[in-house]
Amino acid sequence: MFYLERLPCPVLVTNCNGSVQHTNRDFKKLVAPEVYENMNHYFPPACRIFLQTHAWPLLLKNGEFNELYMQLLTAGGERIPVMTNARISEAEGERVVIWLFFVVKERQRFEAELLKARQYAQETAIQLAKVNTELQHANARLSQYAIAVRTEADQFAHLSLTDPLTDLGNRRALSLNVEQWVHSASGESVGSLLLIDIDFFKQINDRFGHAEGDNALRKLAQQLLKSVRAQDTVVRYGGEEFALWLPNSDREGAKLTAKRVHTCTSQIQVADLHITVSIGISSLAPNVQEVGTFLEQLLAQADAALYDAKANGRNRTVCFGDLE
Ligand code: GH3
Ligand code: MG
Ligand code: MG
Repeated sequence: MFYLERLPCPVLVTNCNGSVQHTNRDFKKLVAPEVYENMNHYFPPACRIFLQTHAWPLLLKNGEFNELYMQLLTAGGERIPVMTNARISEAEGERVVIWLFFVVKERQRFEAELLKARQYAQETAIQLAKVNTELQHANARLSQYAIAVRTEADQFAHLSLTDPLTDLGNRRALSLNVEQWVHSASGESVGSLLLIDIDFFKQINDRFGHAEGDNALRKLAQQLLKSVRAQDTVVRYGGEEFALWLPNSDREGAKLTAKRVHTCTSQIQVADLHITVSIGISSLAPNVQEVGTFLEQLLAQADAALYDAKANGRNRTVCFGDLE
C-alpha cells in the first residue's frame, strides 16, 4: 500500500464489505487521523444512505465508478464536498476497494488556474504571432532597402565607368581593364592600344551644330563596337577621341582592327560629309613591375603615332614602331 502515499489526494482502502484497511497521509490530514473499522464513520448520514443505495451497487456492478459527488465528515464534524472515484482491485490476493477523493474547492481552484494558464498561453501566442508579423514586415523592408542600396551602388559603379553621351566606357574603365590584363597576362603576350581621333571634327560642329556633332559621336561609338572582338574594350577617351584596348593582340592584329575601324567609320555621314578618323597604335608586352606606368607608356606611344597620322594627311593609321 506504500504507493497510496504517493497519490496526490486523500485515499481510503476498504474490503468489499466497507471495512477500512488503510487511509493515506492526505486522508488522515483532511478527514481523521484515526482509522475506523467501518468506513461509514467518514461520511455524514445522507452520504451513508447514498453509499448504500447508489455508490456500492454501482461499484459492485461495474467494478468502479467515477466522479460521484459526496461529502466527507471530518473528526471535527465538518463536511467537506468531494468528487469520489472508486475501483475494485486485487491487493496481495485479496479484493479491495480503493477510494480516491478530490476536494471540490481545490479542484475548482486547480481548474481556475488551468483556465488562467490557458488564457495566458493564448495571449502569449497572439503576441508572438504579432511580433512575428512585425518581424516579417521589418525583414521585407530590410530586403527592399538592401535591393535599393545594391541597385544604387550598381548604378554608381556603372556611372563611374561610363561615358554618358555614347554609353561607352570612360578612361577609368580603360585603366581598370588594362590593369586587370597586366596582372593576368603571360610574359609573351602583347596588348595593343588604338587612339582614334575624328578628323576635322570642329568643322562638323561649326557647319551643322553641336547636336549634330553629338549624333556623329554616338554613331562612331556604334561603329567602333562593331569593329572589335568581344574581349576588346571601347572607350570614349575625351572630346572626339576614342580608344580601343585589344588584350592579347599584337601590332598586326591591331592593324587589322584599325582597318575595320576605317571601313566602318566611312559609313558615317553627316549631310554630304563622310567622317574619317586618324589612328595611332601602340603594342606592348605587359610589365608587372610597372603596372602603374604601363598604360601611360601605351598612351604616350599611341598619341605620338596619332600625331604622326594627323601630320601625314589624316584618315590613316600609324603604329608607334613605324615612326622611326
Ligand atoms: P583634327 O583633325 O586635328 O583632330 O581636327 P579637329 O577639328 O577634329 O580637332 P580640334 O581639336 O580642333 O577640335 C575638336 C572639336 O571637338 C572641338 C570641340 O568642340 C569638339 N568636341 C569635343 N567634345 C565634343 C562633344 O562632346 N560634342 C561635340 N558636338 N563636340 C565636341
Ligand atoms: Mg582631338
Ligand atoms: Mg579631331
